[in-house]
Amino acid sequence: KKKWLPGCVTGDTITAIAMTEPGTGSDLAAIRTTAVKDRDDFVINGQKTFISNGMNCDLVIVAAKTDLNAASPYEGMSLIVVEDGTPGFEKGRKLDKIGLHSQDTTEMAFVDCRVPQTNLLGHEGHGFYALMDKLQQERLVCAMGSQVGAEEALRLTIEYTKTRTAFGKPISRMQYISFELAKLATEVEVGRAFLESLLIDHLEGRKDVKKASMAKYWICEMLNRVVSQCLQFHGGYGYMEEYPIARMFRDARVQTIYAGTSEIMLLIISRQLGL
Ligand SMILES: Cc1cc2nc3c(=O)[nH]c(=O)nc-3n(C[C@H](O)[C@H](O)[C@H](O)COP(=O)(O)OP(=O)(O)OC[C@H]3O[C@@H](n4cnc5c(N)ncnc54)[C@H](O)[C@@H]3O)c2cc1C
Repeated sequence: KKKWLPGCVTGDTITAIAMTEPGTGSDLAAIRTTAVKDRDDFVINGQKTFISNGMNCDLVIVAAKTDLNAASPYEGMSLIVVEDGTPGFEKGRKLDKIGLHSQDTTEMAFVDCRVPQTNLLGHEGHGFYALMDKLQQERLVCAMGSQVGAEEALRLTIEYTKTRTAFGKPISRMQYISFELAKLATEVEVGRAFLESLLIDHLEGRKDVKKASMAKYWICEMLNRVVSQCLQFHGGYGYMEEYPIARMFRDARVQTIYAGTSEIMLLIISRQLGL
């Protein structure tokens, strides 16, 4: 904590978390990266992909199997911190994405990468459970990003439709457009009310896996409905990079994919419902 956390807090240390591999993403328990004990070290071997901050990171938390004979696939996984520059830790290609261009997303490889056993984060064999616990917060962060994205897209579009004219009047005065914007505004308002209730719960220490998954699912899907319709109401200008709605449309798409896809959120919600 003394060595790494101060830099993380000040922002001087850029971190990444490496769970996803070329062969598995949603099915986290199926990762194949291994960390084998050798004297005082772990020796890590494996490949990761789609890692946010992978290129710029100073520290990466790697999910790896430390017990290949564990009774269940959920056990035997641990989290190990690897510092940039450690021999055997190779940063690969910066991936070419359709959106989120201001953030790097990178492949990485670990080839006989040796780190001291003191780099273990949390308890050995509890990595899967630690991730499941903390990913609730990541889901709320995604829902927050999507919520404010939807609010901003709607604000820009209401402004635009008031100034753009067609057939002799602002397009906001066409009943179809005003009704559609009214529907989107209703969805955005519902999203904020739900999210704020979850943030109050979170700040007061109450966790709710089902509701956090519902927020990640519904608000990220809602963002995509909102930006798509908002781009439409910008007409051809919406397709031009000089209008912010174009970037918002591209950036929104990943929200239903990373930090647990919408389908995985539905899986968690249905399990929480006892289905
Ligand atoms: C920009 C970006 C940044 C990312 N950052 C990180 C990062 O920092 N760290 C990290 O570890 N990962 C990161 N990821 C990876 C991301 O979390 C995974 O892409 C995501 O979890 C899905 O895994 P996958 O791509 O392997 O898809 P798959 O798991 O192969 O899924 C393919 C499709 O099948 C569906 N599916 C899978 N299982 C089921 C099921 N049981 N029921 C129904 N449908 C199912 C999925 O929902 C999806 O639609 C990032 C991805 C992107 C695109």
